[in-house]
Amino acid sequence: MDVSSFNPPRRTLMGPGPSDISPQVLQAQSRPIIGHLDPLFVNMMDEIKALLQYAFQTTNQHTFAVSAPGSAGMETCFVNLLEPGDKVIVCINGVFGQRMLENAERCGAVPIVVEDNWGEPVSLTKVSKAFEQYPDTKVLAFVHAETSTGVASDAQALCALAKKNGSLTIVDAVTSLGGIPLKVDEWGIDAIYSGSQKCLSCVPGLSPVSFSQAAVDKLKQRKTKVQSWFLDQTLVMGYWSGEQKRSYHHTAPVTALYALHESLLMLHKEGLEASWQRHAQQHTVLAEGLARLGLDLMVDESCRLPQLNLVAIPEGVDEQAIRSRLLNDYNLEIGAGLGKFAGKAWRIGLMGYAARQENVSLCLAALSEVMAKD
Ligand SMILES: *Cc1c(COP(=O)(O)O)cnc(C)c1O
Repeated sequence: MDVSSFNPPRRTLMGPGPSDISPQVLQAQSRPIIGHLDPLFVNMMDEIKALLQYAFQTTNQHTFAVSAPGSAGMETCFVNLLEPGDKVIVCINGVFGQRMLENAERCGAVPIVVEDNWGEPVSLTKVSKAFEQYPDTKVLAFVHAETSTGVASDAQALCALAKKNGSLTIVDAVTSLGGIPLKVDEWGIDAIYSGSQKCLSCVPGLSPVSFSQAAVDKLKQRKTKVQSWFLDQTLVMGYWSGEQKRSYHHTAPVTALYALHESLLMLHKEGLEASWQRHAQQHTVLAEGLARLGLDLMVDESCRLPQLNLVAIPEGVDEQAIRSRLLNDYNLEIGAGLGKFAGKAWRIGLMGYAARQENVSLCLAALSEVMAKD
């Protein structure tokens, strides 16, 4: 077998994730391994919990990182909160709402689907009507920041609507955490999950989650066992919770957690508001630059995500050739369109460490040169 060490090129990642990682975070990951029940490691896990509480703006005790990617965070929320027969309103306006529906069905829950067009936010009116029609709904599930389209939905208003109707909420914050305002306690979110590799700019493979007291209560009152042993939060609690003695549940991804600790520390040092502002600012610079190149953003300004920009591809442009040339000649990755935007739009990510002037400048210069040659 002719195989040698894998040495990837240094790329600039401006797609839908994973995002660029700060050298400081990559360095943290290469520090010496210690045991995952070592008191020093346990102490670091407690710090991660405190830093996550800050990032989520919550005092929820049940706040930690699932040892698996964002999709596992999604599954964690669904399998713990839903029991067979529970009605759940699932809002679909892109890829990840669809994935939520898959999860709800596999839990044996009864999904009530509220659909909106790709590229538009979740409609409050439609959700309100769904609650009227199904007043015994247990959970409302929606995506805060739809990465497949670059659309933000009004999480605060949706959670208020759920509360008014006596329902819990499951919120997908994989792309929103760190990039746009998100306030778990103030907005009354019950179960939320995110991902390490989007605006937190950490290595992929971890999913921060947080459960409110109401969510923990629903979990404790379950009549049936959680169908997934690994994601059953009643079992994981003993591992991450400070009150109980730390006991073995699974082997934590030790070095990936060093990286998460470092990236959350960087977010804390910068400050959440400052991070939100930086994303908004770089988005404006990008949007202005794209306009100069004659490229338009497709999502209405009222619900645009700064960290994920849906760019209309001009008539007659070979979009795949452009992306290949960006990758091969400029080491720059941008994302392709999905669903009804496949071949019609690019997705340019400005997530976390990638939301910097030098990235925006590189992206605009490279696009300009490549499109001129096309
Ligand atoms: C990326 C993403 C996910 C899935 O995260 P993975 O880490 O790829 O499993 C879920 N929801 C949204 C909105 C995402 O952007």
